[in-house]
Amino acid sequence: KCELDGLAALVTGGASGIGLATARLLAGRGARVAVLDLDPKAVNEPLAGYFADVSDDTSVRTAVERAAADLGGLDILVNNAGIGAAGTVEDNPDDQWHRVLDVNVLGIVRTTRAALPHLRRSAHASVVNTCSIAATAGLPQRALYSASKGAVLSLTLAMAADHIGEGIRVNCVNPGTVDTPWIGRLLGAADDPRAERAALEARQPHGRLVTAEEVAAAIAYLASPTASSVTGTALAVDGGMAGL
Ligand code: NAD
Repeated sequence: KCELDGLAALVTGGASGIGLATARLLAGRGARVAVLDLDPKAVNEPLAGYFADVSDDTSVRTAVERAAADLGGLDILVNNAGIGAAGTVEDNPDDQWHRVLDVNVLGIVRTTRAALPHLRRSAHASVVNTCSIAATAGLPQRALYSASKGAVLSLTLAMAADHIGEGIRVNCVNPGTVDTPWIGRLLGAADDPRAERAALEARQPHGRLVTAEEVAAAIAYLASPTASSVTGTALAVDGGMAGL
């Protein structure tokens, strides 16, 4: 018997990187898994892909309802979809602030709001948000991104307090620098991607990037009944970056 047998999970941003690794791991542990993404065609069996733009409430509601109907309910919600932004407060115009906060923060609000009626019917309901060490680390050149993830951290704690009374746990993971297509795109834009990658690895306390599978393992733990007394926590998966 697998740990997550009989449970249904929904992962936003599950067509790439951390979300895809998480969806695969949850499925490997026995869960039925739906992925909500802008690019659902990137997802293969046994994962079920659904189009959703987390910045659009109607799109989220439609996809969550379809996924919950197809899966026969919802027990686990992983709010992972997110986008980045570089720069100081002087670099990002207001519309970019609105866009990033709309996806990274309100995306979680919309998806959770749509999922809650289903989660309330589960005996093992849990929500895991993908936050970032940027929430607390004071990273240079990441004012907007850090503010968005700071909001995700506070939202996680507030949601945990609001919903534990109805048996729904809410936690987040704080990944460091994770080797995903996202980082690949950043490195690809550098003059010398190989040198840039080596420099990035050298800045990590454990000398390498975190893998998507390592973050997925932390998310799967927080999402699973094994963590039944764990709520309102942020689990760092960063090779020691935030603690140093
Ligand atoms: P990624 O770009 O590989 O994957 C992100 C996925 O989210 C993509 O499939 C994309 O289509 C989807 N997505 C983006 N906007 C969406 C929207 N509006 N609606 C629905 N889906 C949308 O990125 P990743 O590195 O796997 O990042 C996943 C999460 O992890 C993000 O929340 C990110 O902030 C966080 N994170 C990443 C790192 C890192 O170093 N890679 C570090 C800390 C936190």
